[in-house]
Amino acid sequence: MNDRTLAGTGATPRAGVGTVVWYRPDAELEEPPEDGVDEDEELGRFAEARSVAREELERERERTAERVGDEEAAVFDAHVQFLDDPQIEDGVEAAIEDGLPAEHAVERAFADPIEQFEGMEGRMSERADDLRDVRDRLVRLLTDGERTDLSTLPDGTVVLAERLTPSDTAQLDPERIAGFATATGERTSHAAIFARSLALPAVVGVGGELNEIGDGTTVVVDGDDGEVVVNPDSERRAATADGREADVRHDPVATEDGTEIDVAANVGRPAELDAAKSQGADGVGLFRTEFLFLDRDAPPIEDEQYEAITEALAAFPDGRVVVRTLDVGGDKQIPYLDQPEEENPFLGERGIRRSLGPDEDPFETQLRALLRAGAAEGGDLAVMFPLVATVGELDAALERVESVAADLADEGVEHAVPELGVMIETPGAVFAAEELAERVDFLSIGTNDLAQYVMAAARENGRVADLHDPLHPPVLRAIETSVEAAHANDAWIGMCGEMAGNPNLTEVLVGLGLDELSMSAVTIPDVKANVSKTTREAARALADRVLAAETKETVTELVEEP
Ligand code: PEP
Ligand code: MG
Repeated sequence: MNDRTLAGTGATPRAGVGTVVWYRPDAELEEPPEDGVDEDEELGRFAEARSVAREELERERERTAERVGDEEAAVFDAHVQFLDDPQIEDGVEAAIEDGLPAEHAVERAFADPIEQFEGMEGRMSERADDLRDVRDRLVRLLTDGERTDLSTLPDGTVVLAERLTPSDTAQLDPERIAGFATATGERTSHAAIFARSLALPAVVGVGGELNEIGDGTTVVVDGDDGEVVVNPDSERRAATADGREADVRHDPVATEDGTEIDVAANVGRPAELDAAKSQGADGVGLFRTEFLFLDRDAPPIEDEQYEAITEALAAFPDGRVVVRTLDVGGDKQIPYLDQPEEENPFLGERGIRRSLGPDEDPFETQLRALLRAGAAEGGDLAVMFPLVATVGELDAALERVESVAADLADEGVEHAVPELGVMIETPGAVFAAEELAERVDFLSIGTNDLAQYVMAAARENGRVADLHDPLHPPVLRAIETSVEAAHANDAWIGMCGEMAGNPNLTEVLVGLGLDELSMSAVTIPDVKANVSKTTREAARALADRVLAAETKETVTELVEEP
């Protein structure tokens, strides 16, 4: 019998078993001296701690960029900015003038900004974690506090902590850590995002009870069910240990009656290629090229983009790598691209609209890199355009491809035009799917945006989350229309929105006729397993029942039936 089970929020659908090491970085401060401090000395100590903190952050930034990716590493830039924030600096100086030692002054100066960010909505509230991270770093440096070295923990450690900051998680070695659980945190907190991109078992938001688990205890961290199992019985331990390895299938999968379905990975940064391979991806179904443009002052040059694409092709020599051209706008802002302030950015200059307008130069550079990569060794390259709403946009994009190919030919540069495709993300594209499919090799359904535009419910707005759900019949019918249009025009069709990675929906998606499903690496093993458990006929019968349903509730019942 398991001793007890604590409930939290699963961050990654993975389970791990291991031995607890508590991480308690908060140094207890001694009472400040009653007779004040030497102001100059304390200001000097603060300046010194700040400069060491800056050096540490720069090192951690580099290390994260290497191990995880540039996007995650960018958080350390925000930390450096907090170090230099004049409001905080003034606060520390004022507290020292009031007679506090530097470490107490730091705690006092950070208290208000932390509280302000905590009171904000959504992503801004996560800034409070960043501020705490910077505060704790300074206090540690000022108190010589010993910090547990997270990078050298023994194999099979489960880290428990009140919270893990971005710098903490960056130090965790996914090869050695069996998982982590934190008392605080949400699915969108930094720690949870890191865990997902590294397929690390993690449960967040367990609450204060987590503190009752002592160092050295054996626990299962089950990110699937969102629970921490204390002293698991042998059955639970074995199920966890087996589950991590046994499910991964490196070969392509087919339904019982032989319909092959490509199960591919969505990637955005180099470290995700390794995760994709280790989870058995057949290829890449969506390479979000935005990551190449983030966290810098100017667009990446052609060679840099060529290198990144050929790295993905080399990672999947027998598979296909679908690269999406730059998709900025909406919530994706890149400062140097001069994006306008728009009243409704999700209905404004996004995706292909920018590539054919203000970003035509970066688009041309990207197409040059892509066409050169089309001739490179490795897997098969495919290229698709985001947020297309009209046939005219696709024609214009295809013209750009032709003209770039002509330029490369004139210059004598080796190149090949890859397979070309369109994302189906707008109602306009659904209604024009026949004409779009006639012009390209494939379609790929982005259900995150498609659901938002079909249901008129913003994808980031929790108040309409129930409407932003691809199980609403209008979205399912849009998918069916797109699949029929693709197949009637000899094009293949994939899905790369989050819907594709929900293993409960695999059978219905196979039944709807999708040829490829692309998702975050962690769900690949479950989706592959579910493909091989069904038959084309059974899947189609389910799809027909689902398409006949009038409400999302009926659809949900149908897909959840055992
Ligand atoms: C989508 O919209 O479903 C999609 C895959 O694109 P993104 O999430 O990057 O907008
Ligand atoms: Mg999209």
